Amino acid sequence: MDRIVVLGAGTGGTLAANRLRRAYSESEVSITVVDQDDSHVYQPGLLFVPFGLTHKEDIVRPRGRQLHQGIEYLVDPIDRVEFDERRVHLADGRDLSYDVLVVATGAVLAPEETEGLTGGGWKEKVFTFYDLEGAQALAERLEFFDGGRLVVDIVEMPIKCPVAPLEFCFLADWYFHEQNMRDKVELTFVTPLDGAFTKPVASRQLGGMLDQRGIELVTEFNTGEVDGVGGKLVSYDEREVPFDLAVVVPVHNGAAYITRSPGLGDPLGFVPTDEHTLQSKASPHVFALGDAAALPISKAGSVTHFEGEVLVENIRRFLAGQPLDASYDGHANCFIETGFSKAMLIDFNYDTEPVSGRFPTSVGLPLMKESHLNHLGKLLFQWFYWHALLPGRDIPGVHSAMPTSGKDRQQIANEEVPTS
Ligand SMILES: Cc1cc2nc3c(=O)[nH]c(=O)nc-3n(C[C@H](O)[C@H](O)[C@H](O)COP(=O)(O)OP(=O)(O)OC[C@H]3O[C@@H](n4cnc5c(N)ncnc54)[C@H](O)[C@@H]3O)c2cc1C
Repeated sequence: MDRIVVLGAGTGGTLAANRLRRAYSESEVSITVVDQDDSHVYQPGLLFVPFGLTHKEDIVRPRGRQLHQGIEYLVDPIDRVEFDERRVHLADGRDLSYDVLVVATGAVLAPEETEGLTGGGWKEKVFTFYDLEGAQALAERLEFFDGGRLVVDIVEMPIKCPVAPLEFCFLADWYFHEQNMRDKVELTFVTPLDGAFTKPVASRQLGGMLDQRGIELVTEFNTGEVDGVGGKLVSYDEREVPFDLAVVVPVHNGAAYITRSPGLGDPLGFVPTDEHTLQSKASPHVFALGDAAALPISKAGSVTHFEGEVLVENIRRFLAGQPLDASYDGHANCFIETGFSKAMLIDFNYDTEPVSGRFPTSVGLPLMKESHLNHLGKLLFQWFYWHALLPGRDIPGVHSAMPTSGKDRQQIANEEVPTS
C-alpha cells in the first residue's frame, strides 16, 4: 500500500486529501493529514470581520470534519522533514514515513520582523485583519473610530490575496459613507509595488478606482518601521506616512519547519516547485500547492483550488510510474469587493493578464467590471468553499486551465483594456 502524507489541513491540504481519497480506495493508498490545530478559518471572510459584516462563528469550522472518511487526521505541529529518508518528524516525537508528501502548510505572518510593528500602539492604533484575532480587534476599534488618517499598508510582497488590502480600502470608503463620516477620514493605501496591483493593466484600473474614491495611493514604499506611538510609517528610504489608525499586512514567510528541513525551502521558507507539474524541486516524492509553493502567481485560494486538480493527477501518475502532466497554467481568479454591494472579477494565468469579457464563458460573470452580480458571486463563494471546493468536487464550468472563450480576444492579443 502506498502512503501519502499531507502537511497542512487548510484550503490546499484539505482539498488535495479529499480528491486523493476519491481517486484511491483505502486498500490502495493510506492518507494521513497533519495540522497544528483543529480550526479551519475561511480566510476570505476575514476581510468582512472588521466592518461587522461577518463574525467568527460564520467563518470557522473544525478541520477534521472537512476531511472525508478514510483519511487519518493528526493534530500536531510538524517539526521537520527528512526527504532523504522520506520521513516527517512531528513535535511530539512521532515519525511518519511516506511515498508521496504533499506540502500545503501555507504562509505564516511575521509581524515581529518589522521594526516597531508589534511594539507600542499594536492593537491600539496598529492592526492587521490577516488573522482572526487581528480582524476581531480591528472591528472593535473601528466601532469607536471618530475620524482621522487611516492608512492601509503592505509591508512586503509576497502576501496572500494581494487584492485583499485594496478591498479593505474600498470597503472602508463604503463603511465611512454609511456612518456619515467619510469627510472626516483620510484614506491612504501604501504599497511596495509601483502601482495598486501586481498586473499592470489591472493595476491601472484599480489605481483609477482608488482615485475616484479619494483614496491616496503611495507606491514603492518599503516599510522599514511602524511607529505606533508616534503614528507614522517610515520607509527604508526615509519617507514617512502619518496615521491615526494603521491597518498593516505583515511580512509573510513559509512555515518555520520548512527552514528546519535542509534543502526543502527557499530563504523565505517557500518550496521551489515546478510551475506546471507542482512537483517540488527538492525531491520527486514531494509535491506542493497553495501559499507554501514558491510560484510566480498570486497566493490565493482559487490558485490552490486549480493547482489541486493537476497535483492529484500528477500524484496518481507518479505512483503509477507515468510521466507527469505539465498542464497547470497559473490560472488564478479573484473577486474584488469594491463597496456599495459591488465587486469586480479578474481571471488570469502565468501568460495572460486580466482582460475584460465574461467568466467562465461568454454568458458568465462580467470580468474587469464592477457589478452587483460579482458581489453576489463573492458572497456565494463561501458556500462553494465548504461544499464543493474543500470536499474536492468539481465546480461546473470552472476548471484548472484558464478559460479563453468568454474573454475579449482582441485584448488577449493586445493585453490592453480600457482604464474606465
Ligand atoms: C484576509 C484574506 C483574504 C483572502 N481573500 C481571498 C479571496 O478572496 N480569494 C482567494 O482565492 N483567496 C483569498 N485569500 C487567500 C487564501 O485564503 C489562501 O491563499 C489559501 O487559504 C491558501 O491555502 P493553503 O492551503 O496554501 O494555506 P492555509 O489554508 O493557510 O493552510 C495552511 C495550513 O498549514 C498549517 N500549518 C502551518 N504550519 C504548520 C506546522 N508547522 N505544523 C502543522 N501545521 C501547520 C496551518 O495551521 C494551516 O491550517 C485570502 C487570505 C486572507 C488572509
